[in-house]
Amino acid sequence: MAGHCRRGLLIILSSPSGAGKTTLARRLTSWDSSIEFSVSATTRPPRPGEQQGREYCFCTPEQFSQLQTKGNLLESASVFGHLYGSPRAPVEAAIESSHDIVFDIDWQGGAQIAASTFAKDTVTIFILPPSIGELRRRLELRGKDSSHSVDLRMCKAKDEIRHWSDYSYVLINNDIDETFETIKSIVIAERMRQERQREISGFVQELLDEFRTEKK
Ligand code: 5GP
Repeated sequence: MAGHCRRGLLIILSSPSGAGKTTLARRLTSWDSSIEFSVSATTRPPRPGEQQGREYCFCTPEQFSQLQTKGNLLESASVFGHLYGSPRAPVEAAIESSHDIVFDIDWQGGAQIAASTFAKDTVTIFILPPSIGELRRRLELRGKDSSHSVDLRMCKAKDEIRHWSDYSYVLINNDIDETFETIKSIVIAERMRQERQREISGFVQELLDEFRTEKK
């Protein structure tokens, strides 16, 4: 059966901090085990509970700069005073093995990937909070950040939201379950795009050939 062999997708999820993109990205990987999570490299120190190689590959500024120099990062950006970047090798491997890969990255990274050689494989989704009050409430509730850090994230949120129109899909996250269902629909539809189905033209040819041999 043709159609199962397709190019993997790069699913970019961006939003201001606290709008739900990390939860949504992780839910995608639980929903379909062929969707991988792009584990970024960062110079930010780990937060309590974060594990090396699971949330991030935590590294020193020197290690990060080596990754950059060797061309091992698909994109990189400075966010909240720390460096973040998406490793290139897992993306190449995922695409070739028809796996999708989801990125929880900011608008700077989204723009770099959308302008890269992977542009055609990329689906960009921006998640908006229902209101700024709600965004602050979610940031305060999750308790990961000091009040100074919450203020910093609110400041960056404005900058992030200004880039909403660079994304193909824009969702308001009123309800995490509903938003997740919408993201699933986007992924399902994007997988079916003609150019992503490597074997579809061969399959159509087989169908057409079948007309010739068809017994009436
Ligand atoms: P946090 O430190 O709270 O985990 O992430 C801070 C911000 O950096 C979030 O907006 C997150 O999406 C973004 N980020 C995480 N990894 C990357 C990356 O590899 N590249 C870019 N450009 N942004 C990233």
